[in-house]
Amino acid sequence: MKRIYLDYAATTPVDPRVRAAMEPYFSEVFGNPSSIHSFGQQALAAVEDARKSVAALLGADAGEIVFTSGGTEADNTAILGACQALRRKGGHVVTAQFEHHAVLHTCRFLESRGYGVTYVPPGRDGIVSPDDVRRAMTPETVLVTVMHANNEIGTLQPLRAIGAAARQKGVLFHTDAVQTFGHLPVRVDEIQADLLSLSAHKLYGPKGAGALYIRKGTPLNPLMHGGGQEKNRRSSTHNVPGIVGLGKASELAAAAMEEERARLITLRNRMLDNLKRNLDGMRLNGHPDLRLPNNLNLSMDGVEGESLLMRLDLEGVAVSSGSACSSGSEEPSHVLLSIGLSKEQARGSVRITMGRFTTEEEADRAADVLIQTVRDLRSLSSGRK
Ligand code: PLP
Repeated sequence: MKRIYLDYAATTPVDPRVRAAMEPYFSEVFGNPSSIHSFGQQALAAVEDARKSVAALLGADAGEIVFTSGGTEADNTAILGACQALRRKGGHVVTAQFEHHAVLHTCRFLESRGYGVTYVPPGRDGIVSPDDVRRAMTPETVLVTVMHANNEIGTLQPLRAIGAAARQKGVLFHTDAVQTFGHLPVRVDEIQADLLSLSAHKLYGPKGAGALYIRKGTPLNPLMHGGGQEKNRRSSTHNVPGIVGLGKASELAAAAMEEERARLITLRNRMLDNLKRNLDGMRLNGHPDLRLPNNLNLSMDGVEGESLLMRLDLEGVAVSSGSACSSGSEEPSHVLLSIGLSKEQARGSVRITMGRFTTEEEADRAADVLIQTVRDLRSLSSGRK
């Protein structure tokens, strides 16, 4: 059985071209980029090239990119670093209820240290209102952090308006762009972001590599203290192969972005139409158009998302029933609850995310399997009653 992977929002396979680019940096060009001999300088040159590739995709200067161990570290550094640096100015943060746990749990940690945090609820369409963000800011607010695309329902946030609202009040603006970087245009000047997080493994790069964009002049304390790498903004010896992989993945993404976006929208809509024709009691969660090109988040009446996921896996189709981190837990997704779903509806949901290697044939076969599995589960549970 050829298995079908439809969980690209959880992680993506490393593109073979990315792997080939990384390969020499394990054993051939293995120097420490901080060493001044030629081994080190060769590695440093590769790190600096990667920095330029990441910066180019954001419309940023290379000097504004700091490499991290991934999206989680970038989010933690942005939020904790800004709050620490601005402690004297104030102790309040504005965020959204449906952020990734890398942001939410960091905000909860801040609360345990005496900060105030306002969690703005998104609308039922999964979009955060800039007016709500504006109203949530107080004279104490030092940071607004709102994600670009939600990782579960794929909805795209009005970052230009949110960024402008923060800028107008002199408040720093951070966005977690882990789900959009390399997939949709993200230009830091257009959205007026001061800080932006991204992660390599969501764009066909390796796991354990990411970056934080830090606008020049932004006050930020480092999270990692040590040897002073990354101009004292992130100590620790560089993960050279990972950084090279992120750079290559960024270049490939830039070259293919428009074409890939159009292809995925067609593929996704084809699957959705197919499912709608064949299944009743199904609802698409999140705004139908203002969403990632590859994302379908569906609630199915009378079906348990976890059971559906496991049955689909047995049939060779991999989807997710929540975000990567929350699946496996019994609690219904905080994202789905935040847009007004009941616990039961949230538990009856699956996320399908396609990607670079998804074919039309796979999408059709997965839809057939999904339709049949939902029908089977429904007849099983009605038989039990
Ligand atoms: N933020 C979002 C929106 C994500 O989807 C993820 C990954 O699931 C992360 C942050 C965490 O990134 P990483 O796995 O690189 O730490």
